[in-house]
Amino acid sequence: MTRFQNEALLSPNEPECAIEPLQRPQLSLLAFSPLPSEMLYDIPVTIPSMHAPVLLVHGGAWAIPADAAPAHEAGVRNALETGYDILSLGGSALDAVEAAVSVLEDDPTFDAGRGSFLTSDGRVQLDALLMDGGRMKAGGVACVERLRNPIQAARLILEKSPHVYFVGPGAEQFAHSHGMNLIDNADLVLDRERERLALAQARQAAGLADHTFSGLRDDKDPETAIVSPMDSHDTVGAVALDSNGNLAAATSTGGTLNKPPGRVGDSSLIGCGCYADNLSAAVSLTGWGEPIMKLVLGKWATDRVSDGTAPEIAAREAISYLYNRLGGHGGIILLGPDGRFGFAHNTPAMAWGLATPSGFQTGLTI
Ligand code: ASP
Repeated sequence: MTRFQNEALLSPNEPECAIEPLQRPQLSLLAFSPLPSEMLYDIPVTIPSMHAPVLLVHGGAWAIPADAAPAHEAGVRNALETGYDILSLGGSALDAVEAAVSVLEDDPTFDAGRGSFLTSDGRVQLDALLMDGGRMKAGGVACVERLRNPIQAARLILEKSPHVYFVGPGAEQFAHSHGMNLIDNADLVLDRERERLALAQARQAAGLADHTFSGLRDDKDPETAIVSPMDSHDTVGAVALDSNGNLAAATSTGGTLNKPPGRVGDSSLIGCGCYADNLSAAVSLTGWGEPIMKLVLGKWATDRVSDGTAPEIAAREAISYLYNRLGGHGGIILLGPDGRFGFAHNTPAMAWGLATPSGFQTGLTI
């Protein structure tokens, strides 16, 4: 396996040599008073879209085995179809990413919703974040055990709470008080995952613990960042640009296999595994969470786009930075306000999907 295996997917019909630095959108509001009577976040920042809607999804970046490949591609295609139906009817980027991620949460192929990895005590604990780049609103949940679709709870928080983030039973109660069913945690647990946990714990007991995620040994050392076929990074995510020029991002995960109860990864942390701002870009990440968190990598990547780097380049730079700085492995989807996009990963594979008016594309490597 090569140490660095990512190549960004270029936007269709755009040879790499044609890439021009992006212009930061100008807001006339910014030019006037330093104390505007209305704060920017009260006014959706809508950049008139010169592009048709775009939707990118991912279903995790890891050594996807050949026998799991068809299910991964089918899953991302289903998510694209659902999300792009919304966008092509003029729906919002926020609705599209929520719907796309809900499809992926419902698909037991992925480490999100039902079928997620188990905690060391055999439960499913879910994290999710959703962000609206026009209104600069976000909603996140972590360590929820009784919600089938945590991304929908995140949406409720985004819409109905002055707060951004709820965890554990408080998050479940918030969702329940706004109409979501609370289910039994066992409904989210698959036998496949019980077996996977038993195997991981047997390996741990035999002294074969894997530090890929925890970074316990030294996550600055690339030697610790070995991706074995056992190490699934099946987190899901979506980013979208709608016909009104608004960006949104969503990420949802069951976290890492055999994680201690209460551990939260990058996926649901704002600016780490998920971020969206119409003035920069929308991003969703997957992979070994601890290095991604330490680098606040989602915000790092969107800042590159607002500074003028094309998303297809910024995506590759983000994964290079992850590897070179902390020896991390993962994947990224990144979408700019002008519809240009980037995919990159340094894992052996990443399940990805792209929907534009020209059609759908899916794949397992970039
Ligand atoms: N990033 C996730 C976490 O660390 C795992 C993944 O992407 O699969 O929780």
